[in-house]
Amino acid sequence: MRTSVKIGLAVAGLPTAVVGLLLARWLTVASVQVHPEPLDVVVEGNEVASILSDLVQIPTVSRADGTVDSEAFDHLHALLESRFPRVHANLERRFIAAPGDPVVDGEQSAYGHSVVYVWEGSDASLDPGALLAHLDVVPVENRDAWSVDPFSGLVDDQFVWGRGTLDDKQGVVMTLAAVEQLLAEGFVPKRTIYLCYGHDEEVSGSGAKAIADTLLAEGVRLAWVLDEGGAIVEGVMDGLDQPVGMIGISEKGFTTLEIIARGTGGHSSMPPPSTAAGQLALAVTRLEARPMPASLSGPTGQMMDTLAPEAGFPMGLVMANKDLLAPVVKAVMSGKPKTNATLRTTTAVTMLEGSVQANVLPQRARAVVNFRVAPGDSAETVLAHVRDAVGEGFEVNLLGGIDSKPSPVSRTEGAAWLALQTAARQSFPEAVVSPYLTLGATDARHYTGLSEHVYRFSPYRVTGQDLDRIHGVDERISIENLARGTGFYIRFLRADAG
Ligand SMILES: [Zn+2]
Repeated sequence: MRTSVKIGLAVAGLPTAVVGLLLARWLTVASVQVHPEPLDVVVEGNEVASILSDLVQIPTVSRADGTVDSEAFDHLHALLESRFPRVHANLERRFIAAPGDPVVDGEQSAYGHSVVYVWEGSDASLDPGALLAHLDVVPVENRDAWSVDPFSGLVDDQFVWGRGTLDDKQGVVMTLAAVEQLLAEGFVPKRTIYLCYGHDEEVSGSGAKAIADTLLAEGVRLAWVLDEGGAIVEGVMDGLDQPVGMIGISEKGFTTLEIIARGTGGHSSMPPPSTAAGQLALAVTRLEARPMPASLSGPTGQMMDTLAPEAGFPMGLVMANKDLLAPVVKAVMSGKPKTNATLRTTTAVTMLEGSVQANVLPQRARAVVNFRVAPGDSAETVLAHVRDAVGEGFEVNLLGGIDSKPSPVSRTEGAAWLALQTAARQSFPEAVVSPYLTLGATDARHYTGLSEHVYRFSPYRVTGQDLDRIHGVDERISIENLARGTGFYIRFLRADAG
């Protein structure tokens, strides 16, 4: 059953007076959408598409083993230099070495594949802003499933096809194309603008971290940071006809732990009633039955507040009354993985180990559980929850490796937020704009020590199906999106300069 129908039925079951109260509360919620004057910007979409096509043909693939194809990155940097002449004549380019860069003859290269461009502003008293994107892409796993060669950069009359066209080479090309065009127009930004492009976002983000550490060491404070991690998405929810420009104001953290059950071992011909593996299964069942608590506050709550006046019945009414209807809302949203993930820290049991042989009782059985940690939770609260959920008799340990905290929640007020909304509404007037919680990891998480205004938004309009192409099959972006997205960055930098 559709979510809106379920909620509609729940609301319909309430007494008339209560529905009247909910309705009255909904109708008094004012829209927070901005209504800027239109700003004409003409971008040659085919030109942007041609550059993106060139970039896609250079396979700057991040591999799980951490090896980097230096030649591909050198080639890519040379290409950027030739395709964006004004940027390279007017901005300072700094390569940043990172631990993820290759070690040559036992030495860490001083030259890195990650890069920062510095566009000097006219007012040195202002904190700089930073536009982020990443140069690497994920590998192509099932090439046969693709309709085109994923590294061909094929351009047809509507789309540029290939790995990296939505994640995130389009971000590199659109930001550089915007600056190139602004330079041609003689525009000078008020604040200094950094263009920061990491080279290994898809594995560790060591390049982004090295850039952020470098800026931090130089005493830089950033007025704002804008990275990928949101988009203009169609069909966000039933009852909301407009596409929504989802701007990530925080991203979830990442924590992994293990649960261990121990047994006596021995031959399986005379087993106890339950083995270590059986006990572990019990722990896993208990854990899955006790999800981390759901919360309607934080970025997801802010999104509901923002969209309530924009949506139709019943979702608008429900979101406007999410405090009163919290149990219903939480129950319905928990029912689908996509909405459940926006509500809480998620639990995913991903690996199981037991005995090494069919006729040997396990002395030790182990489950590995991955958590995507919502703002407000931490590795410690996750650990406490798991210990409590599985009960006595199990060992529960945090595992090292990739471990990140949820990002601080950036403010949805101030000049940068306004400039972002202004540019989004000017470039995509058919859409409404809303804060939300980014579920995946982005390079932006490394920059939260530099700014209180860290936002995650890729200015392209997509459907939910298009989003499945990211890291998937037949990744592509429309030429129209490339033109509109480049226009967005131009408008954003203009709005930011006041
Ligand atoms: Zn990405």
